[in-house]
Amino acid sequence: MNRTFFFDAAWLPEGWRPRVRVVVRDGMITEVRHGSEAAADDARLTRVVPGLPNLHSHAFQRAMAGLAERRGPSGADDFWSWREVMYRFLERIEPDDLETIATYAYADMLEAGFTSVGEFHYLHRSPQGGLYQDPAELALRHAAAADTTGIGLTLLPVFYESSQFGGAPPTAGQRRFITDGAEFARIVARVRAAVPASGARNCGIAPHSLRAVTAAQLASLLREHPRGPVHIHAAEQVKEVEDCLAFTGLRPVEWLLAHAGLDERWCIVHATHLTDAEITGLARSGAVAGLCPITEANLGDGVFPAPAFCDAQGRWGIGTDSHIRLDAAGELRQLEYSQRLVHRRRNVLARRDQASSGTSLFEAALRGGAQALALPVGAIAAGCRADFLELDGAHPDLTARGPELTLDTWLFAVGRSLIRQVIAGGETVVEHGRHRHRERIDADYRRVIGRLLHAD
Ligand SMILES: [Zn+2]
Repeated sequence: MNRTFFFDAAWLPEGWRPRVRVVVRDGMITEVRHGSEAAADDARLTRVVPGLPNLHSHAFQRAMAGLAERRGPSGADDFWSWREVMYRFLERIEPDDLETIATYAYADMLEAGFTSVGEFHYLHRSPQGGLYQDPAELALRHAAAADTTGIGLTLLPVFYESSQFGGAPPTAGQRRFITDGAEFARIVARVRAAVPASGARNCGIAPHSLRAVTAAQLASLLREHPRGPVHIHAAEQVKEVEDCLAFTGLRPVEWLLAHAGLDERWCIVHATHLTDAEITGLARSGAVAGLCPITEANLGDGVFPAPAFCDAQGRWGIGTDSHIRLDAAGELRQLEYSQRLVHRRRNVLARRDQASSGTSLFEAALRGGAQALALPVGAIAAGCRADFLELDGAHPDLTARGPELTLDTWLFAVGRSLIRQVIAGGETVVEHGRHRHRERIDADYRRVIGRLLHAD
């Protein structure tokens, strides 16, 4: 589909520019000119920024947002007690349910400012633990949800074989995740055939974590899949770091740096607990740290050492992980606010050459997110997917402020309600803050969630 757009002001790679005209062909930007005149049939938008890539999602978890905010009997609620609630919830999900929930999650993501997503997908088997006739049945439901909603997608099928370091057998709650090497290869091959790589689709692999994948299996996965993104959870929890140290003598990120050949293909999801040497090593490797600030706060994971990592020129992007709340601006605000609370300073992550905290945060998250998803996204530039957010230039909080204050105002003062329109792959998918299929998506979701939550 071909469209032309005219923006009163847009945030281009070189900064804010007035009167920007953009030509889009087949969902991709072919031309960007600033200081232009509008043509009669241009779609006109006020203040426009690129859509943000969301580098880490477990779509089905959107359906349990808010269900684990109650004190458990021991009073010692943590990541591991949350995980038990999550395991019980996912036992009931059938393929149609998964597609409905993923569609709901992706529509919500688009309204929240995310125009592409990395789906870290680990639900491969049926509730009984059998393989589906199509080994990628559940993975492909995410592609269908992406087609329905218009979001860009990098599918990351997860390899999961054990419950603890050293290859301990999986627990009953993990039976839907498990594959062997041959089954996993079939899932990835099927996804790559059914969802060919394009400006809006890609496929990588996701060894779940060092506790779920043995060293030998990780080496063989990397041999068998020499290209495409590699995502892994690491160093989210102190207990995980201690278990890794006890079993291998190294901390998770230290182990990955020593044995996995980390480079620009990699996204290390969370990377919360790092030593100075790990910070430097991870930054030098060129891998992206996949930060999920709202989920990490919700789960009580800890605070990522962002100032030291940014000083070391480390690359990072944003994921929404459990989707406890979807808000692109909110994730970046949480990242900055966690640092302010720890360091008792303000504007901690504003760069030396970029005084605006909002601009510094947004720019880094665009670049890191695009690298982690290996998609041409994250900039209003020729060759990129046409993913735009229109921030309401007529909003009272923006009217008397120049474009250079737009990102700070959005991130810190107004949040997701400032997003008026979202264009994904050149198509208008969100208008007046609502996804164009919102009514049908909500109706389907209500039906499914009612059944899932009252199945007992
Ligand atoms: Zn995760």
